[in-house]
Amino acid sequence: MIWNSVLQNMSAGRKRRESAGKRTGKRRRSAFAAALLGVSAAIIAAGCAGTGRVQGDTESSEHLSEDGRISVVTTIFPPYDFVREIAGETVDLKMLLKPGEETHSYEPTPQDIIAIQNCDVFIYTGGENDVWVEDILSAVPESDMMTLRLADCVETVEEEEVEGMKGSAGHSHSEASHDEDAHAEDAHDEHAEESVHEIDEHVWTSPVNASLIVERIKDVLSQVDPSRSALYEENALSYQEELKELDSRFREVVSDAKRDIMIFGDRFPFRYFADEYGLDYYAAFPGCAGDTEPSAATMVFLIEKVREEKVPAVLKMELSNDDIANAIAEATGTEVKVFYSCHNLSADDFENGETYLSMMQKNVETLKEVLN
Ligand SMILES: [Zn+2]
Repeated sequence: MIWNSVLQNMSAGRKRRESAGKRTGKRRRSAFAAALLGVSAAIIAAGCAGTGRVQGDTESSEHLSEDGRISVVTTIFPPYDFVREIAGETVDLKMLLKPGEETHSYEPTPQDIIAIQNCDVFIYTGGENDVWVEDILSAVPESDMMTLRLADCVETVEEEEVEGMKGSAGHSHSEASHDEDAHAEDAHDEHAEESVHEIDEHVWTSPVNASLIVERIKDVLSQVDPSRSALYEENALSYQEELKELDSRFREVVSDAKRDIMIFGDRFPFRYFADEYGLDYYAAFPGCAGDTEPSAATMVFLIEKVREEKVPAVLKMELSNDDIANAIAEATGTEVKVFYSCHNLSADDFENGETYLSMMQKNVETLKEVLN
């Protein structure tokens, strides 16, 4: 059933892309982007003073490399991995985030900006962590580069504060708990307006969304390199089959589970995942909040919840500080488990060939444990 709606969304997405895929945007130039572009211009001018890589990059500004491959740049891991699945070695692919680097503290280097300027396809998420992208794109001279925002590939929702998060202690935002209480619902709306406005950018955490994103990436690649469109089509389809299988595994785990709640001693970038599978959650912070110091009230709340719900493990994301999860686990005699958000992976995991699918398969096993 869900896959019918995926297919419907795919054609809706295709329509949306016609207006959104190609950058026509405003010509706003922020001081930040201007400063960075100034630096990159200086590197180009300096020529030999730059590194070999920068020099090489600037020379390939004609958008089709000598070996006939198009170049694709992504900000984070999931679209990088999806492009790899769809196009393999037929594109020159670069992820700006280095393996092991924390997504939310990423700052583009002048080389990164040059890579963006010179690529044929640039894929970014379009959330609060990449406002810098819009600044850079608005300062890049008009070109035939295609851009794709992951946030344009799916229906987005806003970041959400649930009960226990800092700033919302004692104030339930769980929709389920508001079902019979219209007044609480009003309070929810008022409070939400005060606190969280940002769209939640972690659209890829639902495998159903991942499939929609793959569809759009395949379309963009085919448009830029029509000579390989049959290959992209075939690869995308077989990858989407694997995503569908992954989706079924999550559904199976959830439908067979004893409970439907996840507790994170961390930020919570899994809203699309939780919504997709009808799971409730508690966490220290919403989305990928910059805030990493929980209030005492948050700690007390999460510890109480772990006891009350008798969950066997407290979750945390990969590449994230584990102090909060460890403290909760210690106080409750439970353990800490990693649930992969797939923003990025460690240098070792990257070397070992881990993928979105392989990390998500680990999540299937972890979910089975924490829900039973
Ligand atoms: Zn994030």
